[in-house]
Amino acid sequence: MTEHARDDETDATKLTVDGLETYLHCPRQYEFAHDHGLAGSDDDTTIDDRVALLRAAICDGLRDGETDHGVLVDAMQDRLEALWADHDEPFHSLAQRRHERRVLEATLEAYVDRVGVDHASGIETLTAETDRRALVGPEIELSSTVSVPGPDGSDETRVSIESTVDYVYADGSAVVGVRFVPTLRSLGLLRYRSDWEGAVAEQFTDHFDPETDVFEPAFVGALFETAVIVGGLRARCEQLGLEDRTCRYIQVPLADRSRTAVNWASETVETSLEEVDLTDAYIDHHTFGMTHEHRNRTVDDRLATVASQLAAGEFEPTDRWDEIASDVCPNCEYSVCCQEYIAQEVRFDG
Ligand code: SF4
Repeated sequence: MTEHARDDETDATKLTVDGLETYLHCPRQYEFAHDHGLAGSDDDTTIDDRVALLRAAICDGLRDGETDHGVLVDAMQDRLEALWADHDEPFHSLAQRRHERRVLEATLEAYVDRVGVDHASGIETLTAETDRRALVGPEIELSSTVSVPGPDGSDETRVSIESTVDYVYADGSAVVGVRFVPTLRSLGLLRYRSDWEGAVAEQFTDHFDPETDVFEPAFVGALFETAVIVGGLRARCEQLGLEDRTCRYIQVPLADRSRTAVNWASETVETSLEEVDLTDAYIDHHTFGMTHEHRNRTVDDRLATVASQLAAGEFEPTDRWDEIASDVCPNCEYSVCCQEYIAQEVRFDG
């Protein structure tokens, strides 16, 4: 079954946040990847596999209910050691394998230093009210439902958008979902701004304005992801009897080498880690004032529009063709089988 699938029992079309982001980059790319299920050549598999190791080691460490720094580090390092023993990534040499292991160990320690102890305490706070198994993943599935206009003005239909977080903890009156990602590079402006009003709102609006040359699919995708995850957390809180909480969403990068320092003489690695709370750049104060929930009407309405186009099978990459051709096609895994790309190349040669 493709992601763009119909769920007859609940009468809702199912999409994913990853699919939405692909669609924002290029609707045809979405069709190849998710509707036809064609596998591209994925160069990021190695990084993703290493992030998966760390994700599993951290979640296993958080699951035991420990909140002491040293105990957490030891538990996660022990788990990483076991996972690493079964990790069959090919390396050029034993020295390189040892080095990569040190980088992962340093990343685990940086995680516990920066946020791990606080997050473990927040999980403990929530376990007083609900089952721990519902709080620690990895990859806890969330689902957010949006209503979209039916085709040709027919009745609204429901679209269910799936996402995941790796664990959930309490921060004051908020329930916070945390997702581990390789890096924060694709967030762009969202990495440095903590308000929707101003530059973030402007860039979001401009992305959908064909009169501008602003084309920021990853940035828009991150705001859509925040809307979907915050909505999914709200639904999960209702199931867990936590409906009085506001919901927040944080990304934590586990493969960002820009903060890593290697001392080759002493064979040591040091790194630090930065998390980004995407909630503040997502919520608009007007909608928050009206609903007392973390929402953004501009983002939520646009999300419904894009989900509706996707669910209706609108895959022509014509709207932003110039930007897609210059920014997305050069690195697209499907260019060899894409009629738009081939036609463009033929025109260029002719
Ligand atoms: S080659 Fe270009 S137009 Fe074709 S699917 Fe890829 S990004 Fe889209």
